[in-house]
Amino acid sequence: MLLKARWVLPIRGPVIEDGAVRISGDRIVSVGPAAELTALESDEAVRDLGVAAILPGLVNAHSHLELTVMRGLLEDADFRTWITRLTTMKLERLTRDDLLDSARIGALEAVRAGVTCLADTCDSGVSARAMLEAGLAGVMYQEVFGPDAAQVDGSISGLVEKLESLEDSRPAGSRVRIGVSPHAPFTVSADLFRRVTDLSRDRGIPMAIHAAESQAESDFLLDGTGPFGERFRTRGISWAPPGVSTVAWLDSLGVLEVKPLLIHAVQTTPADHQRIESSGASVVHCPKSNAKLGHGIAPLRAMRARGIRVGLGTDSVASNNLGDVLDEARSAVLLARAIERDATALDARQALELATIGGAEALGLDLEIGTLDPGKRADICAISLDGFRAKPVHDVEAAIVWSCTADDVILTIAGGQPVFDKYGDEQSRLDERRLGARLREIERALSEPFAG
Ligand SMILES: [Zn+2]
Repeated sequence: MLLKARWVLPIRGPVIEDGAVRISGDRIVSVGPAAELTALESDEAVRDLGVAAILPGLVNAHSHLELTVMRGLLEDADFRTWITRLTTMKLERLTRDDLLDSARIGALEAVRAGVTCLADTCDSGVSARAMLEAGLAGVMYQEVFGPDAAQVDGSISGLVEKLESLEDSRPAGSRVRIGVSPHAPFTVSADLFRRVTDLSRDRGIPMAIHAAESQAESDFLLDGTGPFGERFRTRGISWAPPGVSTVAWLDSLGVLEVKPLLIHAVQTTPADHQRIESSGASVVHCPKSNAKLGHGIAPLRAMRARGIRVGLGTDSVASNNLGDVLDEARSAVLLARAIERDATALDARQALELATIGGAEALGLDLEIGTLDPGKRADICAISLDGFRAKPVHDVEAAIVWSCTADDVILTIAGGQPVFDKYGDEQSRLDERRLGARLREIERALSEPFAG
């Protein structure tokens, strides 16, 4: 298949005007000016996308697909209330079927947004199936919780059971890997962190952790004050604050040795960045979620300057409210410039790198995806620049970052196969009508007033 468009953005390398990408099977074969790629092979399909840009498929390096139906449900709450209500709602109001359909709706939003690779953190374990059905690749990190040291054995055996069942139900050739996610420092004890780290190392499976997200988390670790310390005292869980930052604590427990994906990294210092960099751990920057929940702005420029591998994540739509990586990229630029008081803090090209190869590097998948290069997997998206909002286009990278949203994505291809085609007979692989009806059903179950 030959895809042609007004622009091709290989990401590593200059923009190609009037470019083309040739795909054979699940691989990219060649990328270049359309004029040089037109010698067609017999029976080759050609698709001209017109005034559009072809990019590598976008990488959303942090999502919670199972929480998609929580969009708009928990607005304007403080962090402790937010996380408590979210957990209660998930456990009490939603069945496993609800969570699976919620994840499918999230996966649909992803392919419609040009995303081909997701790093999803999931408690119920339903996301891997939803990702696979939608044609997405990436990692599903199975979450594990246990703030009380007495819970360690139970948490580990529960986790091992879930991992085995996920591996058993994983079809051969699936591009969704299974990983582990000890949730966060205020929900996972030191012993549990150590045991999950051993498990990640022994089984060679990737790990992700919500780390250094909020001031509340920092206070909890520094001196046991704040809402999380209070919650531990109320629940009668003993806690000896280590008196250091999240990253320093994880380092002291040996967790950084397995090069985890650190989600958020807002509350980090130059000393933390040095630990992250020297361990080879990576970071997911979630600027909209961090801003919306009032957590602050992660020091992106300092982390990038150190050479830390950084990707972009939308986080759950309960805290965003969109699974739109282009919107996330735009927010990353705006917030980096605002906090640094410097219009050169992050440019459009760098933002598109974060949304593609940056995420691929953060997930250790950069040899396979993240740029348009011959030999890489044919994970591709196409964004229309034909609307009035984007025109005139003087600088295509700036036009995409400043003017485009998920709604402008017209085609998403994963492993050489379309997984979203705005102008196709079937737009995606999921049953959108059924999911729309299920969403209305679940909405009713969630709309009962909250008592607790
Ligand atoms: Zn999260």
